[in-house]
Amino acid sequence: MKKEITIVGAGLVGSLCSLYMTRRGYIVNVFERRKDLRSEIITAGKSINLALSNRGWTALKKAGVESEVKKIAIPVYKRVMHDEKGNLTNQPYGNEGQCIYSVSRVLMNLLMMDLAEKNGANLNFNEKCIDVDFNKNQIKFENTLTKKRKSINSDFIIGADGAFSNVRKQMVDKYNHHYEYNEIDHDYKELLIPAGKNGCYLMEKNALHIWPRGEFMLMALANLDGSFTCTLFAPKKGKNSFEGLNNKKEVENYFKSLFPDFFEIVPNLYEQWQTNPTSNLGIIRTYPWHVKDSTLLIGDSAHATVPFYGQGMNCGFEDCRILDELLEKNNEDINKCFKIFSEIRKPNGDGLQDLSMHNFIVMRDKTADPMFLIQKKIEKKFSNLYPKKWTPLYSMVSFSNISYAEAWKIGMKQEKLMEEVMKTKNIEKVWNTDEIMQKMLFLV
Ligand SMILES: Cc1cc2nc3c(=O)[nH]c(=O)nc-3n(C[C@H](O)[C@H](O)[C@H](O)COP(=O)(O)OP(=O)(O)OC[C@H]3O[C@@H](n4cnc5c(N)ncnc54)[C@H](O)[C@@H]3O)c2cc1C
Repeated sequence: MKKEITIVGAGLVGSLCSLYMTRRGYIVNVFERRKDLRSEIITAGKSINLALSNRGWTALKKAGVESEVKKIAIPVYKRVMHDEKGNLTNQPYGNEGQCIYSVSRVLMNLLMMDLAEKNGANLNFNEKCIDVDFNKNQIKFENTLTKKRKSINSDFIIGADGAFSNVRKQMVDKYNHHYEYNEIDHDYKELLIPAGKNGCYLMEKNALHIWPRGEFMLMALANLDGSFTCTLFAPKKGKNSFEGLNNKKEVENYFKSLFPDFFEIVPNLYEQWQTNPTSNLGIIRTYPWHVKDSTLLIGDSAHATVPFYGQGMNCGFEDCRILDELLEKNNEDINKCFKIFSEIRKPNGDGLQDLSMHNFIVMRDKTADPMFLIQKKIEKKFSNLYPKKWTPLYSMVSFSNISYAEAWKIGMKQEKLMEEVMKTKNIEKVWNTDEIMQKMLFLV
């Protein structure tokens, strides 16, 4: 008889997971707290957009939906840094043709739900998970409209209910699992650069735009309709923080002086400032990620992170692929698969979180430093000459499937080595010479 499973959460990861599980032949019932987003008219460009990179694509490809997602994805080949005078500097992400992609989170979620449903998953909306009995594999849901409660039994449960997961809370409360939440000192707010005349883009479309300012930064990714979704990441308190931005004058002065080229192309900045929420950011660590052969956590419910490497969704998609591979390899032995998944994915969740915090400093601070850009050029040159000896950290994370834990470990070793190389006298003049390549060869 076919096994019946319950997935809590029809977000990005829950939807992809349900697709994988229907393809394995399970009967898949998904319960989502929100209403069906597909019943509303959605305007692209009014929500977070996400960087989708190699790991995400690998998982989408394996699930057979890569070509559908390509239709809503915009290639992003480089970073473009904006200085305080509006001057631009380019930094390609990888080698020629290598890119990440910008996708609207809402469009992506709608598409993934559609694809999951087309593949046979049963999606239930307005159903909030309020309790889990891990001994009976039973979840209690409350309908958010009628307040009616029901209990659903299944062969096993997958918790894909995001950063504030109730499935995880039940595990932590009932089994005393490790749990920690570390909020960072920075908040974020989204702002939209509208499309120009006839839907044209007011900045370069195929780039991630960054306004690095040391302790804080603004960034932007293109949407399909010609607009850009921008995000300000700034400290909660202190200099240049959200604390000092309370009225029109303060907000406009802030952007005019710190991000002048951005300020010029956003006509309704203060309106947006008032309407859009300011949100906080944090890292969630928990362990184990499963309870026996009953329940498994995937996606943000297991490893929510800060968004600075653009990898949260990518990691969640990778979770789905790895789970599918484990089920395949272990003849669907759920007990074994959940245990192995927990053990092998946890270090990668931690690695992802370390990488994400590290990249915050790189983006907000280092991308404005000419020496950092030289360092990246040296790494790229060396990596092209000796691809077996060196893959730059960004490429390991965004253009490969090397585990996050491994990428973090290798990346930190490389960082130490590059510190030595960058001490070379007149490095800004000699960086492109054989001498530097030889030094790298010696040190590596
Ligand atoms: C500002 C920002 C920028 C980001 N940028 C990127 C990026 O560029 N690239 C990238 O890869 N990632 C990025 N991320 C991270 C990415 O958005 C998340 O990692 C991803 O959405 C996680 O997917 P998920 O399905 O695990 O969780 P979610 O997308 O949060 O989905 C969880 C779902 O569960 C539902 N739910 C919650 N509680 C219950 C309940 N009790 N019962 C039933 N349903 C419930 C929710 O309504 C939701 O639909 C970013 C995040 C932020 C905040």
